[in-house]
Amino acid sequence: MKKFDTEFFKVQEESFTTKRFLLLMLIAYLFALGVRYTWIHLMGGQAEFIWNNQVMINTPDGYYWAEGARDILAGHHQANDLSPVTAPISILTAWLVKMLPFSFETVILWMPAVFGSLLVVPVMLIGRAFKLDNVGFVSAMFASVAWSYYHRTMAGYYDTDMLTIVLPTFVLYGIIKALLTQEDRYLLLAPLFMVLYHWWYPEATSLNSAFSAIVLLYTLIFDRKNIYLYKLFLFMLISILPLGDIVDISLLIFVLLLLHFNPTKVKTSHLLVGLIIVVSIAYIALGGLDPIWLQLKGYLFRDSTSGGDSKLQLHFFAVSKTVQEAGRIPFDVFANRISGDSIIFILSLLGYILFALRYPSFWLALPMLGLGFIAMKAGLRFTVYAIPPMALGLGYLIFWFAQRLAGVLAGERWKGQRASWGIALALLSIVLYPNLHHDVFKYNRIFTPTFTKAEVENLAKLKKIAKRNDYVLSWWDYGYPIRYYSDVKTFIDGGKHSGEVNFPVSFALTHSQVESANMARLDMEYIEKSFKKNSQKSFFETEMRDYNVSTPEAFLELLKNPNLKLPKKSQDIYYYLPFRMMRIYSTVEIFSDIDLKTGALTHRSTFYAIRNFVRKNEMAVIGKNAYIDLKNGIAHLGNTQLKLKRFIISYYDKSGKKLNKKVRNYDNENGLTVIDMFDYHRLLILDKKSYNSTYIQLFVLQNYNPKLFEPVIMTPMAKIYRLKR
Ligand code: MN
Repeated sequence: MKKFDTEFFKVQEESFTTKRFLLLMLIAYLFALGVRYTWIHLMGGQAEFIWNNQVMINTPDGYYWAEGARDILAGHHQANDLSPVTAPISILTAWLVKMLPFSFETVILWMPAVFGSLLVVPVMLIGRAFKLDNVGFVSAMFASVAWSYYHRTMAGYYDTDMLTIVLPTFVLYGIIKALLTQEDRYLLLAPLFMVLYHWWYPEATSLNSAFSAIVLLYTLIFDRKNIYLYKLFLFMLISILPLGDIVDISLLIFVLLLLHFNPTKVKTSHLLVGLIIVVSIAYIALGGLDPIWLQLKGYLFRDSTSGGDSKLQLHFFAVSKTVQEAGRIPFDVFANRISGDSIIFILSLLGYILFALRYPSFWLALPMLGLGFIAMKAGLRFTVYAIPPMALGLGYLIFWFAQRLAGVLAGERWKGQRASWGIALALLSIVLYPNLHHDVFKYNRIFTPTFTKAEVENLAKLKKIAKRNDYVLSWWDYGYPIRYYSDVKTFIDGGKHSGEVNFPVSFALTHSQVESANMARLDMEYIEKSFKKNSQKSFFETEMRDYNVSTPEAFLELLKNPNLKLPKKSQDIYYYLPFRMMRIYSTVEIFSDIDLKTGALTHRSTFYAIRNFVRKNEMAVIGKNAYIDLKNGIAHLGNTQLKLKRFIISYYDKSGKKLNKKVRNYDNENGLTVIDMFDYHRLLILDKKSYNSTYIQLFVLQNYNPKLFEPVIMTPMAKIYRLKR
């Protein structure tokens, strides 16, 4: 490729002594950590978010890893409880809890902040590899608090995210360092970090493969005859072989020795070509490209329904439809997530291009940039990958500009760095502002712990009542926290929530108590049986065969029978019904309100839980043209008038423990039910199905059928029942 003059893009190099470099790194690290501490400080002042004297974590997925760590520390867990006792993050957590004098709660609260802030290390090392310690420092400060990076590594965001950006940034550093020095001792740096990254986060395969591909591409474009680069490519390729992390590391060392001592009679360069061919074939033959293809397919071509059992050809509702994160996003939201502001985003991109034009090895950050930009189509969760390269681009532009401005201001005599540092730090504070403002003053306030103390108290009580093998039925959002705090099993959770497994739970929550009880018992026994038999047969297939019916509709019809013969009960089932499910009730219902043959969403029930309304004499006023006339039992909604069947007001007595109800019936069998949940300030408008649903009957009204359910823990925020069947 023809060289062109890159003098214009040049930033004055600065390489500090190791001591000074480490000091700057410490400053950047403490800055990142300090910003993260603000959330702990803010939440620490609110008693409802404290459990075991510590602020609770704020991601439900975190409770999954916490369950694994808890079980590792306990030294046991139950068969089929899905506890991730072999997950790296759980192992690391258990180890830290054992080694450190802090409580379990403290460790999981701080881990994301402590590890996430480590991003400053590879970012500054990348700067240093280019002899640009100045750029590295400014970029590290910026990257560590950029919106989406903060979202994913704030205190309490206890998830694998705490290292899923740090590790690939180390990979990038390894590649750049190798490219710039061409020293043999750096050959394994990137490949070893790739293995580590993959160990920590199995989905790393895509990015690792993209890094390998771009090293090859770079070699072919810029440096075709350089044998060192082919070696680097070979080692990277070995590190992504789907043979397991230990095998990959052994192979890396073996091939390194083989190339170094070359005991064969062939020339080393020929040996190298031979190895690349063999490893490439092995990579493809072992299905190395499959996961990439699958992931792309999953995110780029989304379907509203998911195919369930192949034989029955049933259609279920896919969760991705309800997850807001997976949607397409407008440009400014996308730009904010990466840079805090659209203008800063564009400047960062410009800086990236300047940087890469001056130092072509910086093009190797393109896989991270590309993965971040996929967010435009595939969802916000990817934006975070673009942050390290974009921050480095911004840091580069800042110093490029600062040095020129300092030069103009100081005229010919300007030699050095002090003035440009002053300008650069001023510019840094400007670009930090929208990010810090968002992180500390906006996001910190809206992003509260997953559960409140009142809810956790219930689950801690349940832990003492339920056995470890018992099942808790609740919506999947609460699965992991329930398992962590109550040490039980769940039907569905944050990882197990396909349309197919959600169907029975959705059905049990939104149908009558008889149907619910039958469904819950059947589903629980089916789940345990399929674990034990390692069966691939679907729930519907199994149950339809056992009850000798030919359609799902006929099977669901059977569940209305209060005397239906059920399988022998193996474990107890508890229903966990929280108040917080109220606002997602309609979403919960969709999963079982679907035509299983076509995937069409069938009739939607009426279910409104209204927060903003005013009680006025014999009226409940919802809006300008919407009110409920309680005297005559008519709901006036715009121009429509709907007759009520009944009005119920529910309220707690002075002790706050006993729920009272007053019912007023109107003369209209098919009308709506309106419930005024006085203490919650919620007005519910329900049709017959919603009113009869197990959630409404058991949680809102406590009208449980004593033959089927036994109340266990009854508090305003959550109610827990034991299934008697
Ligand atoms: Mn368990």
